[in-house]
Amino acid sequence: MTRVRFAPSPTGDLHVGGARTALFNWLYARKTSGTFILRVEDTDGARNTAQASEGIVKGLRWLGLDWDEGPDAGGDCGPYYQSQRKDIYDAYLAKLEAAGRVYTEEGGAVRFKFSRTAITVHDLVCGDVTFAPTEEPDMTIRRPDGSYIFHFVNVVDDIEMKMTHVFRGEDHLSNTWKHIDLFHAFGATAPLYAHIPLILNPDGSKMSKRDAGSAIEHSYMNEGFLPDAVFNYLCTLGWTPRAEKEVLSRDELVPLFDPAEIHSGNAKFDLHKCQWFNAQYLRALSPEALFAAARPFIEAKGYTITDEAAATAAVFSVKEKVSLLNEIPAWVHYFFREDYPFEADVTEKLKSKPENTALLRAAAASFATLSEWTEASVQSGVDEAAKANSVKPGALMPLLRAALSGQSRGPGVTTIAHLVGKDSTLRRIERTLSELSA
Ligand code: GLU
Repeated sequence: MTRVRFAPSPTGDLHVGGARTALFNWLYARKTSGTFILRVEDTDGARNTAQASEGIVKGLRWLGLDWDEGPDAGGDCGPYYQSQRKDIYDAYLAKLEAAGRVYTEEGGAVRFKFSRTAITVHDLVCGDVTFAPTEEPDMTIRRPDGSYIFHFVNVVDDIEMKMTHVFRGEDHLSNTWKHIDLFHAFGATAPLYAHIPLILNPDGSKMSKRDAGSAIEHSYMNEGFLPDAVFNYLCTLGWTPRAEKEVLSRDELVPLFDPAEIHSGNAKFDLHKCQWFNAQYLRALSPEALFAAARPFIEAKGYTITDEAAATAAVFSVKEKVSLLNEIPAWVHYFFREDYPFEADVTEKLKSKPENTALLRAAAASFATLSEWTEASVQSGVDEAAKANSVKPGALMPLLRAALSGQSRGPGVTTIAHLVGKDSTLRRIERTLSELSA
């Protein structure tokens, strides 16, 4: 049975690199019907705040990376916070003492005696990597204050939690021989390692927590990405799913995942590509699902939604215009209020021709006579007004769009008129006319 884990050191929010590491472990667990464990490596008491691990949990949940064992989930190998596992580490230290593999220095630090043999990592991504016998001083595993260092607790927990595979960032490869040396000292078999490529910025520098697009909560959750789209995009950072298409659901990605296909070269981060994925996912949503996703972003701008069906249709009518949910309010705000501002060039255009006032008046008069209010009847109202004034219906459309929305771009004019309703359409034209005469 496969057992894999994501083992974050919680010093902040979940970042792209960590999310991708968690994702690859999760994919492998799900593909092999194994177990995915969340272990919080919070041994650095000063930096590992409770808040920081909450941020990680929040990010993982948002991405849909559910864990079978770990905080909130429980499991037989807990506790899943390293800060609560001191007794286990003490017991493992005693094993090394019994095996004659440690000694205590004068200051009180405990050191592990390296085997000083050549050690080979059989890495699933990087291939066999052999480290020559080390000339480094023996490794401190317990500090004088009794706290344990990362390499020791990481290995003890991988033994105790019965890990079979470890997918982690390539930055850990250079220390993996230390881990394998410890596994051997405990008489344990090391898990199979897969060191996954680093994520680089578009300019080739190593991506850090401060870079654009780095923080899951700030760059994705708050900006209006859909979790499925980010999930799909993150899969492509160091892996190319073998499929005819790029947009792949979780259910399609899980069986495709193969550690042997993980790239050994570094991955380039591309926020535009992630936005492209998001646009594809947004467009594939049902009107109801799109509205549910967009609603918090609309309400956060202070717009009140009273008619859900009309709001759903309004949001759906602009789906081709946006790639992020947070772009939606600017495209639909006028559906939710009648005191929308007029874009500067819109007012200018309306005022540029004196006959515009007459045309808008004619449209309003024609609309007022309509007994039913559908997109088709609105169109016939426009046609009639155009005819009566000897212009093409196409000449009226930009004027009506400007009057009904204050904007020069948006969904079809008949769609807007239909959705806001007859009364509001007439009020909007009236308001525009008074703006023009002001
Ligand atoms: N706590 C380590 C990190 O965040 C985990 C390393 C590992 O996965 O073994 O980098």
